[in-house]
Formats: sequence, structure tokens, C-alpha cells
Amino acid sequence: MENGNGVKLMENGLSLKLQNGTHWGFRGNKDLDTPPEITIRGVLGMLKDTIDPADTRSTIPLGHGDPSCFPFFRTTEVAEKAIADALQSANFNGYAPTAGLPSARRAVAEHLSADLPYKLSVDDVYITIGCTQAIEVALSALARPGANILLPRPGFPIYEARAAYSHLEIRFFDLIPEKGWEVDLDAVEALADENTVAMVIINPGNPCGNVFSYEHLEQVAATARKHGFLVISDEVYDHLTFGSKPFVPMGVFGSIVPVLTLGSISKRWMVPGWRLGWLATNDPNGILKKTKIVDCIKGYLNISADPTTFNQAALPQILTKTKEDFFQKIINMLRHTSDICDQRLKEIDCITCPHEAEGSMFVMVKLNLELLKDIRDDMDFCFKLAKEESVIVLPGVVVGLKNWLRITFAIDPCSLEDALGRIKYFCQRHSKQK
Ligand SMILES: *Cc1c(COP(=O)(O)O)cnc(C)c1O
Repeated sequence: MENGNGVKLMENGLSLKLQNGTHWGFRGNKDLDTPPEITIRGVLGMLKDTIDPADTRSTIPLGHGDPSCFPFFRTTEVAEKAIADALQSANFNGYAPTAGLPSARRAVAEHLSADLPYKLSVDDVYITIGCTQAIEVALSALARPGANILLPRPGFPIYEARAAYSHLEIRFFDLIPEKGWEVDLDAVEALADENTVAMVIINPGNPCGNVFSYEHLEQVAATARKHGFLVISDEVYDHLTFGSKPFVPMGVFGSIVPVLTLGSISKRWMVPGWRLGWLATNDPNGILKKTKIVDCIKGYLNISADPTTFNQAALPQILTKTKEDFFQKIINMLRHTSDICDQRLKEIDCITCPHEAEGSMFVMVKLNLELLKDIRDDMDFCFKLAKEESVIVLPGVVVGLKNWLRITFAIDPCSLEDALGRIKYFCQRHSKQK
């Protein structure tokens, strides 16, 4: 199944049928590993329930990935108007084609092509219910008996859960904090075999807030090509960068290795509730078509729910009419709050930050438990912090790194200062020296 481009992918059309069968029949399937129980939203919900109602101070959330409720992060009027206009036109009350409205697909193709050395066509884009459904479609289309997928650690738990539901064997490679959270490519080399169908990267990163350089992405592409698997690039934080490295889409290397680019308007436009995303095939050599992956994607979408039609109809306006000021304002704020995080965390002995955030809205920091007298692990830290200080932070174990923390800085600067001050007092109170 090796083709002329050095890429081998599954040749069968069975994966859809298999996925369809497993999807409906999983409860009775004794082969299925127990799906991961801990999820970001599940743990954040439990932490919220731990807050002491007697605390008169406001609760400060630094665990979320959705800043849309803060007035500063309200989306642009351009987007709101596009949705309202599409709805009121009464032209979009019916079903859309399962791959998406052609106008929306074309708009995404043009939007993504602006950063690529070649042009995507309408047929390269599928409109999905947020980036979450794009993950579901990608993994379902790749699943087949015996296949494995390489996932980053730390990472985004939905990949693991979705791979488990599709019976894809999961193999984790590390992101290396000392190297700015770059992929451990030696580990990827060691993990890959002839049954590896894809590796996942998230760029800009969740949970690490890192941004991959052009050179590193090129190495990722070369590794994937060498071993004959494709790259799934989660770019849901595309262009949300405020460090020294610019955002480079993985699709730039589409002629080296086929890339499935996953994205949405959820994070860049701060509207995760609108459930509007996409999957794009970056494949100038047509390998995904030849190997029937495209058929699997289309087949899966034929049996899936679609994003609301009027939302799809608004997408061309949203993508082309949003002013640069809106993005710049958000990015400037994220740079500012990320700086506050870096500065204030330096004052806290029991927390180290090996790599300051350069993109997305998160930073990963390490807990030095040996400096704390009565904290067992990251979960214990976060539950006691919620109870004693009414501050919510995500335990690293939820994203694959025990005894780390993921801190969100997409929040107003005053609340962030307040929360980091409370974390500092909490650490002092629980530290061994004092
Ligand atoms: C938020 C997020 C998603 C999901 O995006 P939606 O568009 O809200 O479905 C996917 N991947 C990563 C890394 C995310 O942070």
C-alpha cells in the first residue's frame, strides 16, 4: 500500500462500516478499553462544587477555555450581524448538504489558502460542528482494525476519548518542556509502525501555549512521510500568537505529507457556543483521495448531524469581514495577561514555568510538591485551592501531566492579578518553610 509519494495509508473502505458498527454497539463490546473518565469539563465542574459558599470573594476561573462571558472578549459585531442577517433572510431554514454549504466551504478554502503555497478548493473543506466534530470525523475516517494513532502528551483529552471509541490504539509521544514543548521526534520514530495511521499536533498549543516553528513543523512532516502516516493538525487557536514565532499552518507541508487541518471560529472569534468548525484536506498530491480517506470522511458526514444552516451561511461574512482591529485587540490582551502570569508566577516558589506561553490562552506550570507540606498531588492542590481561595485551576493530570497545572490567562487583568495573589498566599500557607 506504499504509493509513489512514500505515503502508505489504508486502502479499505471498511473503516466506515466498522466505525459505524462500533459507534452503535460499543456497550456490548468487551474489547473496548474503558473510555477515559476524567475530562476537562468534568473536573472543572467538580472544582466549582468545592468552592466555599461562605467565601465572600468572587470565584476566579483560571481553568476554562471559553472567555466569551468576559465583556472584553465579546465577539465582533460583524460576526453577530452576519448570523442575524443569515437567520432573518429565511433562506437557510432547510438542511445543508452533509459536507456543508458550498459558500461556507469556499470561504474556508479561501481563508486557509491565504497562508498556503497552493490553493485549497471547495472540495477540500468540510464544515463541522466545531473543531470537536472535526476531531470525530478525522479519527473515525482513519479507524480500521489494528490501527494506532500517535497523540501528544500533554494534550487535549477529546483525542484520547475519541480514539478509544473508534478502537484506535493510542500511543503517546511527549512534548518536551525544555525545548519549548516541541515534539519528541525520537519518540515518534520509536512508536511508529506499519499500523500507524496518523499523528496529532496542536498548534498553537493547548495546554502548553507553545507555537511550533516552521523548521520544527518541517521535521514533523519529514518524520510522518518517512513512516507513511498523515498529520492531523489541530489549529483551533490559529493566529492567536503573541510571542516571537508566527503561526505557520501545517498545510504548508502538504506536498511532503497529507495533512488534515482541523479548525473552528470558537477560539479566534470567541464564540465556542456557535458550534462552527471545519476539516480541510491539505493534499496537493491527491493521496487522501487515492487511499479512500476522502470517501470515509464523506461517508461519515453522511451519517452525522450538521452545523446549523444559518450559521454556515454566515461564515463567509465572518471570515472575510472581521476587521484586523478585533484580532489585534484580543492578541494584545492575551500578551498582556500572559506577561502578568509570567511575572507573578516567578514570585511563587512551589510553581515553575519552564516555557512561557507564546500563543493560545494557556500556560503549563510545574508544581514542586517537595516544597509543600500537606499537598499530595495536583488534584489535591486544585481542590484545596478551590476550597480555600475560590480560584479554579486545571490539574495537569487531566491533560496527561501529573503534578502540573494548566492556567488560563484569557481573563481580565484585575481578576488574574487577584487570582495569582491568592495562589501565592495559598502556597505560602502550605509551604514547608513557613
Ligand atoms: C477548544 C478546543 C477544541 C474544540 O473546539 P470547538 O470548536 O469548540 O469544538 C479542539 N481542540 C482544541 C485543542 C481545543 O482547545
